[in-house]
Amino acid sequence: MSQPLRLRFLIGVPEIGQLPESRAEVAVVGRSNVGKSSLINALAGGKTARVSKKPGRTQLLTCFALARDNATFVDCPGYGYAKAPKAIRNSWQPMLERYLLEREQLVMIMLLVDGEIGPTESDLEMLGWLREHGRPHTVVATKLDKVKPSQLGKRQREVASQCRLPMSAVAWISAAKNAGISRLCELVHLWVGGKSR
Ligand code: GDP
Repeated sequence: MSQPLRLRFLIGVPEIGQLPESRAEVAVVGRSNVGKSSLINALAGGKTARVSKKPGRTQLLTCFALARDNATFVDCPGYGYAKAPKAIRNSWQPMLERYLLEREQLVMIMLLVDGEIGPTESDLEMLGWLREHGRPHTVVATKLDKVKPSQLGKRQREVASQCRLPMSAVAWISAAKNAGISRLCELVHLWVGGKSR
């Protein structure tokens, strides 16, 4: 069993140039409500500074120090957030794209999809875009506990096939039931090249 990640809130920044110096970064992306904040809290064993839900915060790259690994965990603005005014969407979308494409320290992008409802059109667009640009990514399906056990095998096959991935390539998690979290902590340590404890 891997230990929870030691995540310490550092700063939220609106621009790539303001990111803290880091050896390696893991980013979490997904549309709003997919379970990003819940996942980050679960990875940290419930011990991160609570992520504010104020709309302003959601447009920032929210950085957490990953203790002992000399690495940073970056919570990205939720894409496809229909309620954000268009002007705001237009201002941070290019920033997010630049971050995901150009940041050299970025070793992995976790793309969250809602396991209960499956990948949306904007999730598949994001996935296609990451593939097209050859950016390192892993699909994480959230809310595993919301899928009926009798339906789980079928859902897992469907999500993998919609994402055009083998079933083993999709990490299934439940932040609510703490399922799949320990394995994901191990993967984060592997990705940043640090020690697992
Ligand atoms: P974010 O907008 O992507 O940061 O999403 P949140 O983490 O705030 O989660 C959105 C909603 O989904 C909240 O009501 C959470 O309680 C719920 N949620 C998140 N993860 C899980 C999960 O693993 N299981 C269940 N049942 N609900 C979840």
